[in-house]
Amino acid sequence: MSIIVKNVTKIYGEQKALDNVSFEIEKGHIVGFLGPNGAGKSTMMKIITCFIPQTSGEVKVCGFDVTDEPIDVKRHVGYLPEHNPLYLDMYVKEYLDFTAGVYKVPNRKDRVKEMIDMVGLGLEQNKKIGALSKGYRQRVGLAQAMIHDPEVLILDEPTTGLDPNQLEEIRNLIKQIGKEKTIMLSTHIMQEVEAICDKTIIINRGKLVANDSTLELQKKNQQGIVLTVEFDKPVLKAEFLTINGVNKVAQKSENTLVVEILADNVRNDIFQFAMQKDLTILTMQKETQSLENVFKQLTK
Ligand code: ADP
Ligand code: MG
Repeated sequence: MSIIVKNVTKIYGEQKALDNVSFEIEKGHIVGFLGPNGAGKSTMMKIITCFIPQTSGEVKVCGFDVTDEPIDVKRHVGYLPEHNPLYLDMYVKEYLDFTAGVYKVPNRKDRVKEMIDMVGLGLEQNKKIGALSKGYRQRVGLAQAMIHDPEVLILDEPTTGLDPNQLEEIRNLIKQIGKEKTIMLSTHIMQEVEAICDKTIIINRGKLVANDSTLELQKKNQQGIVLTVEFDKPVLKAEFLTINGVNKVAQKSENTLVVEILADNVRNDIFQFAMQKDLTILTMQKETQSLENVFKQLTK
């Protein structure tokens, strides 16, 4: 296990930010840490990276305890904090060289070059960080987090504030990096998790509400299969409900119904029904339950 979190609670003054949270993250996985604003995501990430202590509970990273062995933990963890605090007056290369120094990275110069290549900062390496776009600043943040070649990467909302192109680029970069490392990334965007994460952990108001593979989570919370069916002529909702296996029907327009069915093969019965009634099906489209709905159900 790369990360083990056991019964972790964090109380800030009067505020309980984390309430008895437990989960494990396996080596090599990309795990999405999903929750609405204020759920406790950043708090958990700061505890895992030894930036703040937990009030109670236990956290281990690569076998090292965050309370007893913080130096070992920090050696094995790279961290991209939420607001990516960079030195805007420093040059990209200079900044990365500086971080490499902090971590006492051997062959510093080569490592900096390697990082610049890996995150695609070749053309920007001699610019001031303050002159870079948000997307390129995130690349600097990622390079900084990986400079000491940690096994685990903790990325706190790495794509927030990026435009759609930058978003795509950073997601691809994370996926690429995830082939070799364990990544825990927080987000409040469901599509993000669907796009890049094998597993999803959802927290809400400091409590764990889900911990499953992204696919399973989508499946488990699926109430039924939803189809949009368009016919060439008007169809009566009541008649449609007589088909075995059709659970719910909503009239979208005169010719179009939105139907919830209990199993995939009910589609055959719908075709039979249409033939008997001399109707032609123009389109039949399956809607998959998005993780967004799952998220809403679990955190409402
Ligand atoms: P998220 O990252 O999911 O948005 P946070 O971990 O930042 O959530 O915050 C969780 C809760 O803890 C919030 O209610 C927030 O206001 C509170 N909180 C976070 N940091 C502090 C702090 N330093 N002092 C007091 N309360 C805090
Ligand atoms: Mg946060």
